[in-house]
Amino acid sequence: MSAVPLGWLGIVRLGLVQSAIGAIVMLATSLLNRVMVVEYALPAALPAGLVAWHYAVQLSRPVWGHGSDRGARRTPWIIGGMAVLALGALLAVGALPLLAARAPGGLALAIAAFAMIGVGVGAAGTSLLALLATRVAAERRAAAAAITWIMMVAGIAVTAGVAGALLEPFSAARLTRVAAGVAGCAFALAVVALLGVERGAPSRALAMPVDASRRGERSANLTTALRTIWDDGEARRFTLFVFVSMLAYAMQDLILEPFAGLVFGLAPGASTQLSGVQHGGVLVGMIVAGVGGGAFGGGRGVGGETRRLRWWIGGGCLGSAAALAGLALAARIGPGWPLTANVALLGLANGVFAVAAIGAMIALAGSGQAEGREQAGLRMGVWGAAQAIAFGLGGLLGATGVDLGRSRIDSPATVFTLVFLVEALVFVVAAALAMRRPGRRQDMTPVARARGGGMTTYDCVVVGGGPAGATAAAELAQAGRSVLLLDRAGRIKPCGGAIPPRLIRDFAIPDHLIVGRARTARMIAPSRRAVDMPVDPSGAGGYVGMVDRDTFDEWLRDRAAKQGAERRTGRFEAIVRDGDGGAQVRYTDGEGDHRVRARCVIGADGARSRVAEAVFDDAVRNPCVFAYHEVIRTPQPGTAAFDRTRCDVFYQAEFSPDFYGWLFPHGDTASIGVGSAHKGHGLRDATSRLRVRLGLESCVTLRREGAPIPLRPLRRWDNGRDVLVIGDAAGAVAPASGEGLYYAMLSARFAAEAVDTFLASGDPRALGAARRRFMRAHGLVFRILAIMQHFWYRDDRRRERFVAMCADRDVQHLTWHAYMNKRLIYARPLAYARIFAKDMRHLLQTAS
Ligand SMILES: Cc1cc2nc3c(=O)[nH]c(=O)nc-3n(C[C@H](O)[C@H](O)[C@H](O)COP(=O)(O)OP(=O)(O)OC[C@H]3O[C@@H](n4cnc5c(N)ncnc54)[C@H](O)[C@@H]3O)c2cc1C
Repeated sequence: MSAVPLGWLGIVRLGLVQSAIGAIVMLATSLLNRVMVVEYALPAALPAGLVAWHYAVQLSRPVWGHGSDRGARRTPWIIGGMAVLALGALLAVGALPLLAARAPGGLALAIAAFAMIGVGVGAAGTSLLALLATRVAAERRAAAAAITWIMMVAGIAVTAGVAGALLEPFSAARLTRVAAGVAGCAFALAVVALLGVERGAPSRALAMPVDASRRGERSANLTTALRTIWDDGEARRFTLFVFVSMLAYAMQDLILEPFAGLVFGLAPGASTQLSGVQHGGVLVGMIVAGVGGGAFGGGRGVGGETRRLRWWIGGGCLGSAAALAGLALAARIGPGWPLTANVALLGLANGVFAVAAIGAMIALAGSGQAEGREQAGLRMGVWGAAQAIAFGLGGLLGATGVDLGRSRIDSPATVFTLVFLVEALVFVVAAALAMRRPGRRQDMTPVARARGGGMTTYDCVVVGGGPAGATAAAELAQAGRSVLLLDRAGRIKPCGGAIPPRLIRDFAIPDHLIVGRARTARMIAPSRRAVDMPVDPSGAGGYVGMVDRDTFDEWLRDRAAKQGAERRTGRFEAIVRDGDGGAQVRYTDGEGDHRVRARCVIGADGARSRVAEAVFDDAVRNPCVFAYHEVIRTPQPGTAAFDRTRCDVFYQAEFSPDFYGWLFPHGDTASIGVGSAHKGHGLRDATSRLRVRLGLESCVTLRREGAPIPLRPLRRWDNGRDVLVIGDAAGAVAPASGEGLYYAMLSARFAAEAVDTFLASGDPRALGAARRRFMRAHGLVFRILAIMQHFWYRDDRRRERFVAMCADRDVQHLTWHAYMNKRLIYARPLAYARIFAKDMRHLLQTAS
């Protein structure tokens, strides 16, 4: 759903279209049925056969749905369908006198007319539902289902009342006028209601690729598209559920009134009233489920929306089964049974299940983005076809079941008991199908599919195999998603490699990757005053872990592969939109240019991310510190300036005018470098000076490398559609310290969860959760650090004060706690007050 979601007014307008469809269908099936039998004295089998024929024609719904998926907009399909439907109804009216006169061609005309009615309902109804599926926000889907269905029922009821009254006294000419009036008004209503509804939506045809070679893929045929739906276990199960539940629903439909007459001896008027009670119950049930939509909307967590809808559907089905079991009992007990209450309960449960099922249909159809293309229409078509078969078959089974039973069993009560029990059982089966957990998507295997032109489609393509990308890929693959991890080869990320225990714990980093353990940080002031900050003064063994990025990153990528992600080496070039607006990732490697389709793209390609720059305007302007370091062999033991268990941080303008320099131990190697946002500052020279100062100039240099460190999270991490950025690409690095490893991996975890929800629900707003959760957890600390950097790193006088402050025990305790655990200690307000007071003192001294 890439366009602006429909508001309530938009939903009501689609409801008006639904009521227009209902009005013509009522005219063509119910009213003409009666006229054929009563006024024209035709055999009842004839209208019944024609109605069954129009259901059979609706098996073509997938064709119309697929067509509307590939069209530029759905409105023409709805209006076209309405036109065919209206003309079909008028043609059916025109066929009546010919049928009555047994004129040649009468039957052929009627068959053609009802075929048009079937086609019209199929095209208009399916495209309308697809429009709802793609344009209604998740939290409104249940309510939208209720509104449109209630409006359809209202359309039918109003048309039945008005047309019935206008037909009196009956004449063929009057029928023609009434039919023309109903069809014309309904068509006009639909056209007016649809005006501008799709205006805000991007035209799918206009978004077509210019690339002619891809046209074959765009027109992926119906069989291929149907196969992708069949491959999707959730969609397949849902089709079965729609069939079984609608079968149960339709089976009970035609036998309630005969039951009331035969077993309870109700007169026709009273049994019709009972039917009214049932319909009233349906209406209340629909409203209950629709209003409860807020409770089951939203879609938090994996497949949250459909998961919560499952409970409503299951409840509705089980309620229907219980009510039918009650009717079975009523058949045995007879007139003492509270029949009206029982029938009301049946209607209520039917209404709840129907609206929840339609809501789930809309949600699932909206999530159908197989092969990178929209499939809402096709999915609605498939379910509509399943519904049509179930309706035709259910009515027939219910009625013939009663007839057959009565021909063999004398007691009508026994026959109805058996039939109601069978129907209850079918509802229980439907409930079981609805409640069945999808499992870990055993049907949507993590194996990417290569259909529709041979291009492989992944649930997610992760660009960049650093800590962020590798973590996101591992977590998505573990969740059962098909993932491609694309990484540019041959570069080790320049990095100090310091990681907090929280990272080691939360991301299960094995011990062998920790090549060094720092137990103290030494802060060096411009005056060369050194302040040591022991990591764990209690002596409990706390430390800052040191990792080598060549082994660390490769281990993370390997873990992703073991979880099921596919690894490829290549350089990301661009995201290209295919014919249906789906994303294709274009990348190059030694063998040339390649493309893969992605339902979602995660950009984890570091600072100066090409993915971010392709999607967000502000990405290019995001402020950065440029950091450079040299990886040297660890100096000989006894070198005064070096301690294997200590990180040194240099706050001295001679090395960095606005950031800091460092010397970090890494077991057999060490990282020595400086960072600065000043473009003119010579980072290499500064590093050389630092080495000379520390007496490390003669140590063997293994690598020299530099990279930018972004210091501000981007305002948006997702494009509201299908691209999300994380880690350095999203600017998720702590200001003042430049610490980014933990934040990269955490943002990746949040992103994986958000993408999983998006893939399950089809609602791109789910992607926004990644940034929201991240900023909720760390936004405050980032802001504090940004202020600190701005203030304390400004000149040597302030740096001197800053280092002096680091000697304070409270400062040390709170700093380490925040760093190690990534949490502020709110439990110690006094300590913060003391720090604040000292801070102010230093500030004033600095300012004086
Ligand atoms: C000198 C320096 C020292 C640092 N020290 C520390 C430290 O001690 N502790 C700490 O926590 N943080 C430190 N950081 C920050 C930390 O390195 C980053 O925050 C962290 O690496 C971010 O991880 P990432 O996965 O988002 O991006 P990266 O680690 O940058 O990974 C990006 C990945 O994307 C790949 N890529 C890029 N472009 C493409 C493309 N077009 N196609 C395909 N793949 C692509 C790259 O090859 C790379 O594998 C330091 C940074 C620097 C520069």
